[in-house]
Amino acid sequence: MGIDRTVPAVHLHIGGQARAEGTGGTVEHVFPVTGEVQGLVPLAGPADVAEAVEAAHAAFPAWRAWTPAERRGVLVRLAELIKADIAELGRLSVLDNGMTHRIGLHLASSMAGYTEYYAGWADKIEGRVTTVPAQRRELAYTVPEPYGVVGIILTWNGPLVSVGMKVIPALAAGNTVVVKPSELTPYATEHLMRLVRAAGIPDGVVNLVLGGPDAGEALVRHPLVQKVSFTGGPTTARKILASCAESLKPAVLELGGKSANLVFPDADLDRVTLINTSSVFETLAGQGCAIPSRLLVHESVYDEVAEKVVARVRSLRFGDPFDPSTNVSPVVTHAARDRILGMIGRARSQGVGRLLAGGGVPDGVPAGGYYVEPTVFGDVAPDSEIAQVEVFGPVLSLLRFSSEEEAVAIANSTSYGLASYVNTRDIGRVNRLTAQLRAGGVYVNGAPPVVGYELPFGGVGISGYGREGGQEGLLEFVRTKAVAIA
Ligand code: NAD
Repeated sequence: MGIDRTVPAVHLHIGGQARAEGTGGTVEHVFPVTGEVQGLVPLAGPADVAEAVEAAHAAFPAWRAWTPAERRGVLVRLAELIKADIAELGRLSVLDNGMTHRIGLHLASSMAGYTEYYAGWADKIEGRVTTVPAQRRELAYTVPEPYGVVGIILTWNGPLVSVGMKVIPALAAGNTVVVKPSELTPYATEHLMRLVRAAGIPDGVVNLVLGGPDAGEALVRHPLVQKVSFTGGPTTARKILASCAESLKPAVLELGGKSANLVFPDADLDRVTLINTSSVFETLAGQGCAIPSRLLVHESVYDEVAEKVVARVRSLRFGDPFDPSTNVSPVVTHAARDRILGMIGRARSQGVGRLLAGGGVPDGVPAGGYYVEPTVFGDVAPDSEIAQVEVFGPVLSLLRFSSEEEAVAIANSTSYGLASYVNTRDIGRVNRLTAQLRAGGVYVNGAPPVVGYELPFGGVGISGYGREGGQEGLLEFVRTKAVAIA
């Protein structure tokens, strides 16, 4: 029997009600694999967003009054339900944005993992006693408190992971939330809301409104929203911060990247090639924030690495995303494909690098699908657009360096700073580079950015600020109150 390709009816989830219509009208959901319309998505207008925020505000006092152990218990139940439904959540992730089934299942499992992890934190959020009368001082201590209503804005590439990294820690800390996923990815989060209800999380604690920029802006500006957690691009982040500035509202920003992968001659070149190409081409067709889209290779092994990369790219396969042998997916929209092809075209016409593979639209894919060939440029000029600006598509730039200093200078030359990758067996070099690379995380010899759920993730520069994952990701949703008693 083939895989079920039907999509669920989509709703706005406000205060425990599932509403089939929103005041923002509807939009057709298009499957990027075929370009065919799969269903209609109801959009929230500002009035729906306001109702969702009010529902979250109304639910807050009772949710805050749950004991930490009760909150842990309900989140453990949610994790169990997510684990039981990984197959369905993975299937819907494919139908959301055309990702391969393997990646869809992986992202659903990751959400389950974060849910278990943060469930465990729910009853371990503690304050400190800082001074005591025995020291001839006031009794003083800190009290961790939730913010209240948190506004959470997601992008379309991996909404389930963002739920695990944002929504769950916000709940564990005692906040209520209004989540606005992208209208491009309505299905997996629709299913999640069923699980939220089934777990026994009270009505109004988790509200979900699909919508575009106007719904996002209404959420950010709402005076009852106490904090914003955003995943998306730097351009939108600037608008969000401008809105937050009016009421001095805090925000966590998880933005894009142009991450460098530094390869020294003593590295395992086959492993580097496999991991780098898998990450840039097989993970959401390059639509991942932390992908190593700049491969910086020492001149002594550059030609060898370039050859290996091109050979690997030639072995990649397009096809039905549910077919396990398919490893490249389409990009999310027609507009995204045109934008990516535009960047490839400019790099070619400006001669800022040599085209080694790809560069266009592949043969043998559905005519309506939004496919871009895995594309590799060699000897890319470090200051060119293709080496400086996030493509968010299946495009890899190879750059040559001759010294460690030059590699660091190139790696640090963009305005982003999400991840940096290093490949060398020289521990002294590892220690120097982890200090010198300007990035929120440095990952050595093939370690991925998410190593367990304990390691925080986030950026510097225009990759944003604040952290997700680990204890740091929890503390983003906790306000510290100081108490002193004379
Ligand atoms: P985007 O910034 O266009 O949109 C993201 C979300 O913001 C969407 O839900 C959108 O509706 C909403 N939005 C748009 N305008 C808004 C406004 N004025 N006010 C409030 N909300 C608004 O981003 P995108 O193009 O959908 O996503 C791609 C970007 O996301 C890339 O830069 C990528 O690197 C980044 N990303 C980062 C991470 C991370 O964790 N660092 C993870 C995934 C994606």
